[in-house]
Amino acid sequence: MAYIEPAPIKDKENPFESMMSRFQIASQALGLDDEVYNVLKSPAKQVQVSLPVTMDDSSIQVFEGFRVIHSNILGPSKGGVRYDMSVHMDEVKALAAWMTWKCAVVDIPFGGAKGGIKCNPRQMSAGEIERLTRAYTFAMAEIFGPDRDIPAPDMGTGPREMAWLMDAYSRIQGMTVNSVVTGKPLVLGGSLGRAEATGRGVMVAALAAMEKLKINPYQASIAVQGFGNVGSYASLLLEERGCRVVAVSDLSGAYYNKNGIPVEEAIKYRDKNNGHLEGFEMAEKISGEDIITLKVDVLVPAATEDVITTKNADKINVRLIVEGANGPTSANADPIINDKGIMVAPDILANAGGVTVSYFEWVQNRLGYKWSAERVNRRSDRIMKDAFDRVYKASLEYKVSMRIAAYIVAIDKVSKTYKFRGGF
Ligand code: GLU
Repeated sequence: MAYIEPAPIKDKENPFESMMSRFQIASQALGLDDEVYNVLKSPAKQVQVSLPVTMDDSSIQVFEGFRVIHSNILGPSKGGVRYDMSVHMDEVKALAAWMTWKCAVVDIPFGGAKGGIKCNPRQMSAGEIERLTRAYTFAMAEIFGPDRDIPAPDMGTGPREMAWLMDAYSRIQGMTVNSVVTGKPLVLGGSLGRAEATGRGVMVAALAAMEKLKINPYQASIAVQGFGNVGSYASLLLEERGCRVVAVSDLSGAYYNKNGIPVEEAIKYRDKNNGHLEGFEMAEKISGEDIITLKVDVLVPAATEDVITTKNADKINVRLIVEGANGPTSANADPIINDKGIMVAPDILANAGGVTVSYFEWVQNRLGYKWSAERVNRRSDRIMKDAFDRVYKASLEYKVSMRIAAYIVAIDKVSKTYKFRGGF
């Protein structure tokens, strides 16, 4: 099926431009009026701070920290905090906007935000990361809040950092406020099912898309680029549903086994091997880039932005792409993928399982109650499936790709809400 979509307006592969060109295309298809378009196109608030931190050798290093609130029209803003050397304002702005659209697609009452610190956590000690996290929280004390802006993990952060963030915020407030952040360790009010939630949502979206494409999961071959939290859980859960995960990759390279990678073994190996798969013997090592162009049924990019670009899109040899990462396909690659008739379950739909269970964590914290894993999974699976069906229906109605349909669903919800709320 080929889609008729205008080429992106800007020919620049920067995450914010990529987000904006899809936003423009979807706004046109939806017939969004200029006034609301102008409200939604720029972030509501952008904060940049300098964070001096004493390192273990007593030197002082200054880090750059960011938080962008794209929108709080649907509710308090929500989104992760990323620790990576590539963090910069344009990236954080794009990721914040994607959170707005993601929360709207799955119909949860949150706006969108994202934060980040430019740092290399792999080269820092736990003590240094802890001091940096506390300094960041202190600097953002006026921004964060359970009814204002609720951070969560993203690349380079996890439950450990969220615990420090929750503790630092609680000290400033003079009381324990666990609903200020999600993705916490279980003992601090984290939710059962949160760790695997994004990967689980990827699995639900992948199975829903396979059903539409009439791909039998028991005969499907899958390649998963990125073997962090999202990629490893997605691989494990897809394997559990009968799929054959033939390749996985991480920073050390890609690992291929045509009979299927034993995913649990790969995870165990990674956890004992400093977090990477180098030396994993139950698969053949291939170049990291080659995983994108393998001939398989389903490709799951689950690492970072811009791995599918105009440079490799024409060589992609799959029927379905399920985006576990945020922004893995550049806007300029969209028409190439569409022309090849490949279905894409886009990021703002496919990886929304994480923020969905973050929402459940926030609800449980506010109720002062804990749900069973069974309840969390059942409710998040339903939300993901309903969101998939809404987006699929919109793609037929507007005759657009699943990606533009997801933006249409999201923009429609946010713009309708804005019209009821009104402005100054
Ligand atoms: N960082 C995740 C994402 O990009 C989760 C955000 C959240 O749970 O608030 O969706």
